[in-house]
This record gives sequence, structure tokens and C-alpha cells, in this order.
Amino acid sequence: MMGTANEFIRRSLRDDRSTGNIDIMGSDGDVRNIERVIKEAFTKRELKAMCKQNGVEVLVEMLTGNRPGSYTRKQEGIFTPVIRIKRNARDDQIVHEFIHHLRSVDDERKGIVRTSYPTDADGKLIVSEKYFRNINDIKNVEESATTAETTARRFSVSGQSGYYSKICGFDPRVAYEYDRRLMTGSRNVEMSNNLRGEKAVAAVIDKYERTMISNAHIYPEEIKGRTAVESWNWLIDAGLVEPDDKNEKNSNV
Ligand SMILES: [Zn+2]
Repeated sequence: MMGTANEFIRRSLRDDRSTGNIDIMGSDGDVRNIERVIKEAFTKRELKAMCKQNGVEVLVEMLTGNRPGSYTRKQEGIFTPVIRIKRNARDDQIVHEFIHHLRSVDDERKGIVRTSYPTDADGKLIVSEKYFRNINDIKNVEESATTAETTARRFSVSGQSGYYSKICGFDPRVAYEYDRRLMTGSRNVEMSNNLRGEKAVAAVIDKYERTMISNAHIYPEEIKGRTAVESWNWLIDAGLVEPDDKNEKNSNV
């Protein structure tokens, strides 16, 4: 059956002072849902930062498989990053993909809250021998830190990021609720407030190394490999990421 023109719309959260925008494509209901979720999870400043350079394209699709979404960063031949979100994805799964984007384009971020992918001033992926050699560690850190920030920004009653099942010897839900309490400073996860903006970012900077998700083995998927926080230190030593001030201080102790 052919859809009518009204069933599929393209809407932009436009900011006149930026060069790009957040372009969301999907059914009317899907687009409104994404708008609601990101306006709740991110501050105006953060939404504006997402529009930097070419902004971001968001596609709500019937993705197959278990992946609730994906983020394709700016790179050779891809001028505008693309977020793909599975229809009926949970709110926290939507927030996760937008955090990947913010980590890549928000210049106010550094250290663990900045993308671990080597990125130039225009937000474009720098591909090199070093990049290919350390890809597992880069992905390990990126997914783990993005998940930590997601846990701070959005509590999910009905499930949690699949990466919580990559922590050796721990029940995923127990690990998730531990991180949620740590991030929000609340003893009761049900009563905990979602963090946004600077508060969410500060929680990751201050507490990432104490989270359960920093102990996950996301890439490669074997427990012989480095945990995410071990990958983080590995990338610092390899000169692929820059530690923030806090980490520099700690290493001097
Ligand atoms: Zn991810």
C-alpha cells in the first residue's frame, strides 16, 4: 500500500545561527517522539551544538536485528552524520545515539566525554594506521562512556543498554542500577532525577572510572581483552586521546 504524503514528513529543529540542523525523517508519530525525547534529555545549548557544521540526519527505520540504533560519523564521503533509530526504540536507546553525536561535535567536551575516535576540527574522522590498530579500544571507550552518560540522562524502567551484559560476573540490571545511583547520587533509582547538560557531563567526568560500565568488555567481545577503562588508559598512552585536567592531575599523584 502506498503511503500518503502526510504519513511521512521531514522536520527540522532549525537554529538560524548554526549552519546545520537536526533533520528527523520518519512517520509523524516517530518524529514527534524523537523531538520529545531529545528536548527532555538535552539542554538548548546541547541541541544547538548538535547543529554545528552540517548538523545531523536522523532516520527512524524498521531496522533488523537487535541493534536499537547506530551512529555514522562524519568521514571521507559522508558530510552529514547519520543517526539510525529502530522504530519503537526505548527513550534511553534514542538518547544514546544522540550522545555519540554530541561527543563528536561539541567543542566544550574533552577527555572521557569527548569522542575517542580521532576527529579533526571539522568533526571528521581521521583515518590512519594508528586508528586501525586501536579500533577495538576506540570502540570500547566510545560505547562505554556513551552508555555511562545515557544512564545519567535517562532512566529506563523496562530494560537497559545491552552493553550492561558485557560486564563479567554481574547481573546486567544490578550493574545498571548501581551506575544509575552513582551517576545521580540518588539511593532510589525509581526516584532518581534525569541529569542534563553540564550536570550529566560532570557526572561522567567525575565518576566514569567508578562505574560498572567502565569494566565492560565491549570490543573485542572476549574477557581476555581490555576493559573499557583499561582501553581508555591505553589510548591515552598511545596519544590517540587527550586526558582531561582531572586525569592529568591523577596521573601526577
Ligand atoms: Zn553506541
